[in-house]
Amino acid sequence: MKETYLEERGSVEIYDCCDILVVGSGAAGHSAAIAAARAGCRNIVLMERYGYSGGDATGGYVIMVPNLSWYDKSFVRGLQEEWFTRLEKIPGAVRAPALSDIGSQDPLLIDAWKAIHDCVSRGGYGGAKPSCLVRAVYFEPNQLKIEMDKMLLEHQDSIRVLYHCWGAKPMMEGNTVTGVFFESKEGRKAIRAKIVIDATGDGDLFSQTGAPFSSLADGNTRSSTTALVWRIGGINWDLFEEWKRTRPQAAAALRSQISTVAGFRAMPLPTNQNDMCWINNWHPDMDCTKIEDQTKTEMETRATMRDVLAYLKEAVPMAFRDAYLYDIAPQLGCRCSRRLKGEYIMTANDFAFAKQHDDVIAWHSTICQINDCGPVEIPYRAILPQKVDGLLCPGRHMSADDVAIDWLNLIPQCVGTGQAAGVAAAVAVADGTTARTVDIRKVQDILCDQDVPLPRNPKTDPSYTQCCEEHQYGLYTDLAKQAKAAAEGKGDDLSQYRQW
Ligand SMILES: Cc1cc2nc3c(=O)[nH]c(=O)nc-3n(C[C@H](O)[C@H](O)[C@H](O)COP(=O)(O)OP(=O)(O)OC[C@H]3O[C@@H](n4cnc5c(N)ncnc54)[C@H](O)[C@@H]3O)c2cc1C
Repeated sequence: MKETYLEERGSVEIYDCCDILVVGSGAAGHSAAIAAARAGCRNIVLMERYGYSGGDATGGYVIMVPNLSWYDKSFVRGLQEEWFTRLEKIPGAVRAPALSDIGSQDPLLIDAWKAIHDCVSRGGYGGAKPSCLVRAVYFEPNQLKIEMDKMLLEHQDSIRVLYHCWGAKPMMEGNTVTGVFFESKEGRKAIRAKIVIDATGDGDLFSQTGAPFSSLADGNTRSSTTALVWRIGGINWDLFEEWKRTRPQAAAALRSQISTVAGFRAMPLPTNQNDMCWINNWHPDMDCTKIEDQTKTEMETRATMRDVLAYLKEAVPMAFRDAYLYDIAPQLGCRCSRRLKGEYIMTANDFAFAKQHDDVIAWHSTICQINDCGPVEIPYRAILPQKVDGLLCPGRHMSADDVAIDWLNLIPQCVGTGQAAGVAAAVAVADGTTARTVDIRKVQDILCDQDVPLPRNPKTDPSYTQCCEEHQYGLYTDLAKQAKAAAEGKGDDLSQYRQW
């Protein structure tokens, strides 16, 4: 048993009082604050432990978002698509198939994009249909940092941003969260709020409220890996792709050899520039809330970077001859740790049966192959904690089981649930209701007004539903049929449908 020390506690200054306090300004938290402001709330505080917004998407150098579209429909819209319509005005900041081209089967376009991971549907979504172009976007993380600040500044009459402030503990009255204690260079302080949005990604706050939550039980999932992303400059990605295409055996050997050199799984992926790649990596069976695992990931990745670079230069000189270490992400790559056990827990069944939810807040095409990447409905209850009031929990710690979380904690789903949390909090504050009793119809209508397509909502273009019906929600493939049988207990375990 570890030694303990009884800490003295005095009174704490109430630094601010607000209607909505968002803690964590990653994809989810930033979206929550912006969406709340646009839904009419004028008294929002956004608190972030680092000096910028974006979390994994900027500081973690996770610089691509996949599957924003399905066939010719742009399903993931709202604030996620707004990031890119804004960034596309900055020369070179974004590389992606144009929205006007999604779903295209034009061989010239397919040929132009096939080297860029996930920009072309894999064998036509499960191989059942011809390949088509997909809206997958590669972006420059530092440009996104700048743009996220700009978005906040556009709402400075409504949002007070506190960077370099670390949310430490929820303030509770009974089962209701009424604010947050935080640490800063000015010392420990507190903020009172009518509704708190925990967007820390690791449930830093909900885990201290008495709300049920879980940790990843299965060390074999993508979500149970940590990373430290880094970038290599001075390369030629097109030539690397050509090398892989013309030498499939050597390419397969490279894939495994690079992981041997690193000592953990690692893979070069394209970026927004042809002369740069990012090295994604996966340290298995790690918990990104554990001090030891965080330290190990940082130090082990940095320790092997020079070796990986030297290996690539030697193995593929035509593409990596002039390669150099460009930069290292300023923050650890966290995929998943504590997860909310919310009022609804998403599972593979949501994908395998195209489940409908009255409280749907996002209708997203995803990376899940079970339903052929078709749109899945995310309900409000997946960000609503059990037992605790005054709290919403969007982002990568949302409520999903060990299998489904691998498809739901990507950037688009974090933005989507964050946007919905912000709108819901704004509606609850305006109506004098709570996060639990909020008028969900009103929330859905405002989300549609904020460019979020939702099923069965008259504000959504009916062609979205037609697209789902025409392509049977992606449930026509062999994989979907097997998954359904497994989900009904008639087949194999669903774990085989994990892809990473
Ligand atoms: C290496 C890697 C590769 C990935 N690949 C992809 C990919 O290719 N495409 C994709 O779409 N997704 C990918 N993902 C997943 C995706 O990046 C994340 O799940 C998503 O960005 C998480 O968003 P979030 O806002 O929920 O959490 P985060 O991005 O973690 O944001 C949480 C924010 O809260 C802040 N914070 C945390 N704790 C506190 C606190 N106590 N007080 C104040 N602030 C706090 C953090 O600093 C951060 O800014 C990848 C993830 C990793 C790590």
